[in-house]
Amino acid sequence: MKIHSIEVLPVRLPLRSVVTLSRGVSRTIEEGKQIAMVKMTADDGTVGWGEAGPSRRWSAETTHSTYTTIKHYLAPVLIGRDPFDIAGLHAAMNMEMAPGFDPGQPIAKGAVDMAAHDLICKKLGINLQTWLGSKLTDRIELSYLVSAPDPEATGKVVEQGLSEGFRAFKLKVGHDPSVDVENVRVAMEIAKGCIVWPDANQGYDLDQALRAAQGFEKLGVELFEQPIPMTDIYGLKKLLTSTSMNISLDEAAMGLPFVVDLLRRGAVEGLVCKVQKVGGIHYARQLCELARNAGIKLIGSGLMDAPIGFAASVHVFAAFGIDYPADLNGPQHLAGDYLKTPLPMDGQAALVPLAPGLGCDIDEDRVRGALHLAL
Ligand SMILES: [Mg+2]
Repeated sequence: MKIHSIEVLPVRLPLRSVVTLSRGVSRTIEEGKQIAMVKMTADDGTVGWGEAGPSRRWSAETTHSTYTTIKHYLAPVLIGRDPFDIAGLHAAMNMEMAPGFDPGQPIAKGAVDMAAHDLICKKLGINLQTWLGSKLTDRIELSYLVSAPDPEATGKVVEQGLSEGFRAFKLKVGHDPSVDVENVRVAMEIAKGCIVWPDANQGYDLDQALRAAQGFEKLGVELFEQPIPMTDIYGLKKLLTSTSMNISLDEAAMGLPFVVDLLRRGAVEGLVCKVQKVGGIHYARQLCELARNAGIKLIGSGLMDAPIGFAASVHVFAAFGIDYPADLNGPQHLAGDYLKTPLPMDGQAALVPLAPGLGCDIDEDRVRGALHLAL
């Protein structure tokens, strides 16, 4: 079996609400959720779908960069290759687009990786979790994302999430530590008995992070995501010795070799897995198994994923297990998608799709028509 063609189809999905990260709004209502969808077709006509949905406020890739990278650099070196040789596809992509601390435009590579996995699983008539060879669970509980500027607004968002049945809340912090601590305090007070954790998205310097950590710890917070810049390993080690909270790495944990280096330095207690940021399912499964073997916390997250990225994440997280409800907030923020039939849910838990591949039934007419994004 050979890869016959790889098409990149840019789409825009409408947003219901925005997320404010430490660097600002991840995508505006006007921008919407922009995605470079990948359609991979084999020489026997089997089709696989993948997607790249970056936010330039989270990492250095954009809709345009993923589109041009896949179209002009990744696709040409993959045509004619065996899609079952996933490691070989990545080796070819990495020869073309060099890895650094991260896998080198991982979100673009991740879209191709998802399409290849979808294609081979469809060819075999199995779902992705079966291909992964691990079925720890068949459902992934979701968390509700809160990015509000002050305690009053925080309280309203948390109440909304509670009313929709969520029992876990992740708060975007990384602004003013005293306001952030107060926001978390209000969230914990309203969402009594629920899991609440802050994510600073590298927004603090070390001094701010130490102050914030002290405040969060007093409130009883157990998990604190990516407090300081990913490059500050000295600060990370200082932070780890100053708090009993689990400091988990997200932006710092994009490339496996760098994660291994951090483990060697004793600088990792928790890893956040996002299928897109690590370069796709091939690396995500390795990150999950690494965390499991290292005996550290594993947290599941995403990039406000649309259904393809969402489904891929659910398969991976359910295969290897995660320690907290997953921050897969696509359903919370996206006001529409490209599916003919919705993905299976049970309340605020995502069920592992059982249909072959990732389990997404793509409405290709809408992808090429109403949802098309002109770049
Ligand atoms: Mg994060």
